[in-house]
Amino acid sequence: ELEALPPITQEFHSVLNKVCEQCYSDFAPDELEVGVREHILQDLEAFVRRQFAGARLQLFGSSKNGFGFRQSDLDICMVLEGQETIDDVDCISIIESLARSLKKHPGLKNILPITTAKVPIVKFYHVRTGLEGDISLYNTLALHNTHLLASYAAIDRRVKILCYVMKVFAKMCDIGDASRGSLSSYAYTLMVLFFLQQRNPPIIPVLQEIYDGKKKPEVLVDGWNVYFFDDLKTRWPQYGKNSESVGELWLGLLRFYTEDFDFREHVVCVRQHARLTTFNKQWTSKYIVIEDPFDLNHNLGAGLSRKMTNFIMKAFINGRTVFGTPVKVFPPAYPSQME
Ligand code: ATP
Ligand code: MG
Repeated sequence: ELEALPPITQEFHSVLNKVCEQCYSDFAPDELEVGVREHILQDLEAFVRRQFAGARLQLFGSSKNGFGFRQSDLDICMVLEGQETIDDVDCISIIESLARSLKKHPGLKNILPITTAKVPIVKFYHVRTGLEGDISLYNTLALHNTHLLASYAAIDRRVKILCYVMKVFAKMCDIGDASRGSLSSYAYTLMVLFFLQQRNPPIIPVLQEIYDGKKKPEVLVDGWNVYFFDDLKTRWPQYGKNSESVGELWLGLLRFYTEDFDFREHVVCVRQHARLTTFNKQWTSKYIVIEDPFDLNHNLGAGLSRKMTNFIMKAFINGRTVFGTPVKVFPPAYPSQME
């Protein structure tokens, strides 16, 4: 049922490559914008500490993982000094009182506590920058997976560019909004990383499988092992063996997920190089299965309806045709809401 693709010329590869590079330079924030985010964070922390004396605020998600857009939301995690964890009841009451307090902040609007979600948050809108954000409490695993993603991004420039391209593609195809039943940016980023680990030769290693000695070190957070190799000064043995361009890799990714990867059988799993099966995980009733790198009970595709799954798969199949067929007029313009 997949269309046969014509042979790809060197020339077309270089067009593809330009499109990918362009996408990155169009959407990556500059240092100034990174500084603005830190500034907002510090201001918020100072404000919150007037009511919660021991409060510490930290950015995570795309403000920190290396794949942020200029307009990406501010994901913020709050903890209280000297307190290790928090129970659900306290969490909801703190979220509610945090919301009441933030309503008095002159620079914020649209304060909205959401206490029914799996992770309770307070949403806000930062008037001067037009950025949206949310504050969650003790979202510790998210801090660790942000650090993991940032470490992969730092290994090779192509990782970063491909993750941007993937996010733009997901937004353009309307398959990248978890709050509307599709997959989150985080899920698509994991798909890119998995592809880059499985490529031969690989572009990136499996950082959770690199360690000295026989046994993997154990660093437990919320009962899960969050250890990974994060010494970025040490180059891994296969570094630089793969010299494909970003353009080749992008088409390679679309082909991988439409031609090679068997979603019925296998799990998108970045924590080990060996293929993990949906049968191993007892996740056979779902078609797209993406395992969280730390919370191994968490399938990021769990919330997908059958209809949405088909819609996502069709987007990949169309993407393969669009990016795999040399044309004269290229690239297609971004939709206006992304600019
Ligand atoms: P964007 O630029 O689209 O905001 P993002 O990387 O910040 O991209 P978000 O969807 O805002 O992605 O998620 C922020 C962070 O929250 C992720 O980096 C991850 O740590 C965590 N997260 C998001 N969705 C999930 C999920 N379904 N399960 C576990 N953690 C998640
Ligand atoms: Mg975000």
